[in-house]
Amino acid sequence: MKLHHQIFLAMLAGAGIGAITGEHSTLFGVSVLAGFDLVGSLFINALKMLVVPLIVTAIISGMVGVGGGDNLGRMGVKTVFFYMSTSLVAILIGLMLVNLLTPGIIDGEPARNLLGLSAETDNVLAKIEGRGAGDFTEILRQMLPPNLIAAAANGQMLGLIVFALLFGFYLRTEKGSAGETLRQMIDGIYQVMIRITMLIIRFTPIGVFALIAATVTRTGMDAIEPLAWFFLTVLLALFAHAFVFMPALILLLGKRSPIRHIQAMMPALLTAFSSASSAATLPLTMECVQDRAGVSRKTSSFVLPLGATVNMDGTALYECVAAIFIAQAYGMDLSFGMQFMIVVTALLTSIGVASIPAASLVAITVILAAIGLPAEAIGLILVTDRILDMCRTAVNIWGDSVVTVLLARSEGEEQVLSLPVNEMEARAAEAAREHHQAVN
Ligand code: ASP
Repeated sequence: MKLHHQIFLAMLAGAGIGAITGEHSTLFGVSVLAGFDLVGSLFINALKMLVVPLIVTAIISGMVGVGGGDNLGRMGVKTVFFYMSTSLVAILIGLMLVNLLTPGIIDGEPARNLLGLSAETDNVLAKIEGRGAGDFTEILRQMLPPNLIAAAANGQMLGLIVFALLFGFYLRTEKGSAGETLRQMIDGIYQVMIRITMLIIRFTPIGVFALIAATVTRTGMDAIEPLAWFFLTVLLALFAHAFVFMPALILLLGKRSPIRHIQAMMPALLTAFSSASSAATLPLTMECVQDRAGVSRKTSSFVLPLGATVNMDGTALYECVAAIFIAQAYGMDLSFGMQFMIVVTALLTSIGVASIPAASLVAITVILAAIGLPAEAIGLILVTDRILDMCRTAVNIWGDSVVTVLLARSEGEEQVLSLPVNEMEARAAEAAREHHQAVN
């Protein structure tokens, strides 16, 4: 059975089992939920373990591979342009729908009393502490970490990326055997990381089963009801961005079939959905984009690690919808200027949001503070956060992969999405075999 079918079945099984499992259910005296948590976190840890070496070596070898200064400048400008403009479109789609559907106003009244602030409100701030950049100055600070090891240990990827970009930039032109050895060594680490990723990928169905079962056991489906309109608004906006706007880009600019691209990305998308973490999904994203979509290593290893950290379409959209929903629920009148500020803040903070579950909540508190609402107001949306987090993370990954395809196409990569997934994978496996034979 194909991997994404296995993952899909595992998700269904996880949801089914999670629905009949209570938070306190036990099996042979052992908590079932604790079992799901253990298996889920082993899977996520295994993926996260790869992230630091993978991001650093991918970016450095990506920089070396991109070649001369002109190439690099062109790729850099195109990447930033695509990332920023697609995120902006996502936010504008959210803005339009939240103004149209006004989920925070029910029967002409602000929904504040109807919703009641979540009982968990007191814990909210403690819960989200350390989940990413608080404000713009913090984002800037993270870009130049005083201590690289500490940045890596704390998952502050922005600093690592800046360092890796600089390192790659200079390693590119380092002459002599020292430069050559170092380039080969970094390339070797990267190759090994990809092979370990492939090993972990085999366990994806089991990991995904446990993650979904734990989430459904904890959240249940009842939680969604009081926030149904908000929930639907976010889903609708994410859907429009992911299934209308982005496919149109692949079709019109990339001149390839969006359906073929969804097939290629399925394992990564399902893992993003189950794990709610772009960082943990990155190894799979790279694997799908290279081996299943046929994007060159040169392009993908430069664009994807950057995207997993700074390009979050789903998150940016969610921040905007959530902030405006809360303002509506509080009965606040949002002027054009205020909405404009929300859009800009959502765009900028989505860059600094960490690629881990629930990280948007920090950014939303920043936006709330900017429009004069108490940070605790995010208590309103906590109940639905996990499920929406799963959806927006999948959209984040989808956005990264689409931009990578567009970039590859604009660089003249003909092979991208040109063959069925199976054939593409078979070719990649063949190339890997030849590589190993040559090495040995
Ligand atoms: N969970 C998201 C991600 O990892 C970030 C967020 O929106 O909370 O991409």
